[in-house]
Amino acid sequence: MITFYPGPSKIYPQVEQYLAEAYQSGILSMNHRSDVFMAMLENVFRQMHLKLGLPAGYEIYFTSSATECWEIVAQSLIRCRSLHLYNGAFGKKWHEYTHRICSEARPYEFDMNELPALDSMSAELEEAEVICLTHSETSNGTIVPMSFLRSLRERTDQIIAIDATSSMGGVAMDWEAADVWYASVQKCFGLPPGLGVMIVSPRAIQRAEEIGCRNHYNSLLYIRENFQKHQSPHTPNTLGIYLLGRVMEQVAPIQELNAQTEARAEDWYRFIEKSRYSLLVREPAVRSTTVVAVEGTKEEIKSLKKEALEAGIMLGSGYGTWKETTFRIANFPAIEAVEIDRLKDFLRKYSKTY
Ligand SMILES: *Cc1c(COP(=O)(O)O)cnc(C)c1O
Repeated sequence: MITFYPGPSKIYPQVEQYLAEAYQSGILSMNHRSDVFMAMLENVFRQMHLKLGLPAGYEIYFTSSATECWEIVAQSLIRCRSLHLYNGAFGKKWHEYTHRICSEARPYEFDMNELPALDSMSAELEEAEVICLTHSETSNGTIVPMSFLRSLRERTDQIIAIDATSSMGGVAMDWEAADVWYASVQKCFGLPPGLGVMIVSPRAIQRAEEIGCRNHYNSLLYIRENFQKHQSPHTPNTLGIYLLGRVMEQVAPIQELNAQTEARAEDWYRFIEKSRYSLLVREPAVRSTTVVAVEGTKEEIKSLKKEALEAGIMLGSGYGTWKETTFRIANFPAIEAVEIDRLKDFLRKYSKTY
């Protein structure tokens, strides 16, 4: 079975080997405060800094998921008010989660084919302690381009937090355009689920110190103190961390992966435009390079997904509002060119016989 599901998604084939290595190395039985674990973690951090091109001073912490990062941001970085700019299901959920913890969390919903109108929102930006954005909105296949994040950065000194769950590891980020970036590894990192990655700027650390929240097992300050020692606050997903380290050693620097992601995305968009289906996102400038959302009638989509399964190909279902009228194609680095060709062949043949 080939999978184009946008998470959990195809894992790198080398993971089979890394699993065996993890077992043989003995790391999986090691205490998370042992020298062996600390050395392993230090190496994972080093590889990530190198391959992702993280600025000096930006720190990495591991969590259980991207969802946990929503909670960490709400508890440790916001006293009262945040601003959530979103156009889809994940950004909306982030707002809802935060609102339960911070009663002044404000939503700002924008059109799927547009970007937030920063010029008309200076007051909102001024009042928000943290501005929250989803980089690649996995539910509808939109993206907030780096140029937009840079112009947001120029307008505000507040903390900017980015949910990059379905793009980190496949897209080159302008890290300094934001203070908190997080993801989970079952998307662009090409790994099995169960690990979240949080990348935090010096400015965000300073904010956490000012707020001084230490009430939770996952308070940012507490997490930080542990990871600074190359330990972890609680017994971690050692296997997940080990595998991430091995994949980081294996992959090309992010600029190279980014070039591949962009070229493949462009190719997919051209391919779909010529097909009988349409693209859910009409405006090319805000189309995600990692998740392609394709629109059709309910009947078309249902039958296409079924036929694809019979041909050994799993497409991503639609999500939320677009559950029945779209399917999604993950464009993550672990997916191989031959697999893309097989899906294209299938779509060509299927479209003729529909
Ligand atoms: C998948 C996804 C999440 C949730 O990830 P978990 O690992 O299940 O917590 C959050 N945000 C976005 C944009 C996602 O794509």
